[in-house]
Amino acid sequence: VEALGAQVTVFPREAVGDIRLAKWNAASPGKPILLLTHMDTVWPLGTLTDAVPLRQEEGRLHGPGALDMKAGIAIAMEAIRGLQARQTFPQRPLWLLLTSDEETGSDHSRELIVEIAQQCALCLVMEPATENEGLKTWRKGIGSYTITAKGRAAHSGDAPEAGINAIIELAHQAIVLQGLNRLRQGTSVSITQIQGGIAGNVIPPQAACYVDMRFLVAAEGEQTDAAIRGLTPVLPGSDLHISGGIHRMPMERDAQMIETFQRAKSIAEKIGLPLAEGGTGGVSDGNLVAAAGIPTLDGMGGHGAGMHALHEHVLIRSLPRRAALLAALLQDWPLT
Ligand SMILES: [Zn+2]
Repeated sequence: VEALGAQVTVFPREAVGDIRLAKWNAASPGKPILLLTHMDTVWPLGTLTDAVPLRQEEGRLHGPGALDMKAGIAIAMEAIRGLQARQTFPQRPLWLLLTSDEETGSDHSRELIVEIAQQCALCLVMEPATENEGLKTWRKGIGSYTITAKGRAAHSGDAPEAGINAIIELAHQAIVLQGLNRLRQGTSVSITQIQGGIAGNVIPPQAACYVDMRFLVAAEGEQTDAAIRGLTPVLPGSDLHISGGIHRMPMERDAQMIETFQRAKSIAEKIGLPLAEGGTGGVSDGNLVAAAGIPTLDGMGGHGAGMHALHEHVLIRSLPRRAALLAALLQDWPLT
């Protein structure tokens, strides 16, 4: 990005890679447009040389992170390069943020992301496009919990009546948790892992499960979160410990999102690009920015398939279209 004329600020991090913020036209009037990207992938070091080498095949570029989101970073840089080459780079502040821990939950970047985004007029998240090469106008929020039931150990042959079976306690809770699903409202509560017991002839003194909760609307999520935290033991003498909570709020398809998307759609149509919209149950840093009230469009990156899977790839022919879309938004987005 230095070669493209950006001023770069480095935010050092210890547990993860450093975060970089590149700025163009810092002296120009108006609020910046923020391009939000992450450099990390879900793949362990060495994947590129061993398991998934970079390869081009039938118009697809395969490689770890090729779609999520190396393509998004490439699109951002090529849109800027193209505008500069045509001398049509708009006289407005443009920021590009490159983070390093999105796939592991953004624990070392979330405050910085929101602080930077709050200074901006618009945040374009360079995550992969939807299946029909559209933008993502909603993402669910997420909560996660570990629920531990405690009972009392006893010999299952000699004195079963002296024990309190933590697995049975947790089984009662599992049925209550399943009942919290409101799939039509977009709220799901899923027990995804369970473990318990210490030996084949011992009434289990402990059992635990992992719960994944997703929600479309903030109020729904908060209500479900309260229900999970409020679970009470069923068996006399047993105990429950509940840890966890809401980790990211949803990116809601609210009035501001609809208006922001409509504006993008009409700019895209001017250059002959139809623009669809969609959403996903998966989270991104777009959740953080949208939940902080900043106009946000997600899914500005490449079109492809196989995010986080071995067949991850980006459709090479989508790249110029996506760069053209981004360039048009940078040129035509109203200054505020
Ligand atoms: Zn991503």
